[in-house]
Amino acid sequence: MTLLEVKNIEKYYAQRPFLFKRGQEAPVLENVTFSLQEGECLGIVGQSGSGKSTLGRIILGIERPTNGELIFQGVNLYEAPSKEKKMIRRNLQAVFQNSYHSFNPKQTIFEILEEPFLNFEHFSKAERQQKVRELLDCVELEWAMAQNYSSQLSGGQQQRVNIARALALKPKLIVLDEAISSLDMILQKTIIELLQRLQKELQLAYLFISHDLQATRFMSDRILVMQHGQLVEEIGKDGTYQHPASQALYNAILPSHPRERKKKDRPN
Ligand code: ADP
Ligand code: MG
Repeated sequence: MTLLEVKNIEKYYAQRPFLFKRGQEAPVLENVTFSLQEGECLGIVGQSGSGKSTLGRIILGIERPTNGELIFQGVNLYEAPSKEKKMIRRNLQAVFQNSYHSFNPKQTIFEILEEPFLNFEHFSKAERQQKVRELLDCVELEWAMAQNYSSQLSGGQQQRVNIARALALKPKLIVLDEAISSLDMILQKTIIELLQRLQKELQLAYLFISHDLQATRFMSDRILVMQHGQLVEEIGKDGTYQHPASQALYNAILPSHPRERKKKDRPN
């Protein structure tokens, strides 16, 4: 079943008044159209500045597109009545790159994870405790960690808390915007494994946004390549591609072994 339809999305920022006359601003997104199925992980990959995060923010309802439509579970995201919008907001969550800055440093992990339940549910204190316990368990963190502040956690642990918070309201789709990009290779691998396990267990769909084609290939069922605000091609299941933008992303992948790395850098 189709979960999300993105139709002809365009985004212009009215900026750089000296370079562009009004109505002539450079588009950040142009004619972006795709759909995402329930339980699917769709990768969006592209170089920095290609418009990926803008697209993510538009899908999350943080920003409005200049033109185009977003249909989530058959409901138009921007025209829905506020009650339906609230339902969509539950079902559509996000994990961003810089987990540390997405926490309030004065809150304990318990308070961070309790918040979605305070905002959306009418649970008792005991019920909230139970829910937070379950969330920590889901992301393989100890219950004792609930008393800590986010600054006391490692980068990997912080990102687990972010994932737990995104899971709290049992969403259908999580937008992962460079969610593992700030972690080292080994941590990336463990977080990818965690995300994949959760995807299966909770029938989640992901929109995996990244500049890193290698990580995106590990995660995604399908990959769309973005360049200058446009989707330029879908990389085939067997890894085949034609567009120069895809070639550039392949070239940016470093072989994991230093000896191979040297070989790759040597001119033929
Ligand atoms: P990516 O996530 O692929 O690196 P972004 O979506 O962050 O790309 O940015 C795409 C382009 O849009 C960039 O040129 C950026 O400068 C511009 N941009 C992003 N947000 C804004 C904004 N709020 N105002 C003006 N320009 C913006
Ligand atoms: Mg970005």
